Amino acid sequence: MCFSGFIAIIPMHNHPLFAGRTLVLATMHSKEQVMAPLLQQYLGVQVVVPAHFNTDLFGFIPSNDELLLLYDADNKLEISARELTTANNFAGRQISSVREAQQFAAAAGFPQHALILRTHKHDTHHVQKGITDRDTLLSAVKKRLEAHDSVYITTDMRAMHNPTRMQAIEKATRKLIDKVAECCPVCATPGYAVTNYHTGLPCSLCGAPTRIVLSIVYTCSMCNYTNSVKYHKGKTSEDPMYCNWCNP
Ligand SMILES: [Zn+2]
Ligand SMILES: [Zn+2]
Repeated sequence: MCFSGFIAIIPMHNHPLFAGRTLVLATMHSKEQVMAPLLQQYLGVQVVVPAHFNTDLFGFIPSNDELLLLYDADNKLEISARELTTANNFAGRQISSVREAQQFAAAAGFPQHALILRTHKHDTHHVQKGITDRDTLLSAVKKRLEAHDSVYITTDMRAMHNPTRMQAIEKATRKLIDKVAECCPVCATPGYAVTNYHTGLPCSLCGAPTRIVLSIVYTCSMCNYTNSVKYHKGKTSEDPMYCNWCNP
């Protein structure tokens, strides 16, 4: 059974296309802690996390951009979801006192969010990661400041040490599940998604097209069925403040 038009998660246990199948969750840094229970509950899959899978090799995606891809090899189906957020605690600073370390830690949401120490920003040899308690932090900073004038302190952005990232990953997972719930009205394949939009919602005063979205286009990646939906937010005209004629 398919549902559409819901924003919240649809309690659709055991999706018929995925129920009982194995989903290989190619991830690391304990992201499966938030992803696996949701995927198991709503897609009915058995989640397996491969050992020694190193996604750090693909480390080109910035830490505030969580991108998920569900690939169904049997049906050649790809469904993706993305959570872009400005909510992250990414920061780094060269400091020369314990007091500065304490100030940095407080601003970074420590100890819930872990910290990393290096000699300098590009130091890859003397790196201490995953610091999550005050005593370890202060003694490590003191020790380093005995040997060097300063120390580089930075936030640990690995998901298992960063609740802010874990929240974004959970949001992305829920978006993915919502997308799976949107099925093509013709072939019922999940992942019937917005692929384009057209502007031109008419001005309520003069009727001229504005630059506001008039319609959104849904496309099925399986059968290529496409449908354009007008007035998706229930508005049939736009305020003249957005009109090029009435409010140039
Ligand atoms: Zn279709
Ligand atoms: Zn107008």
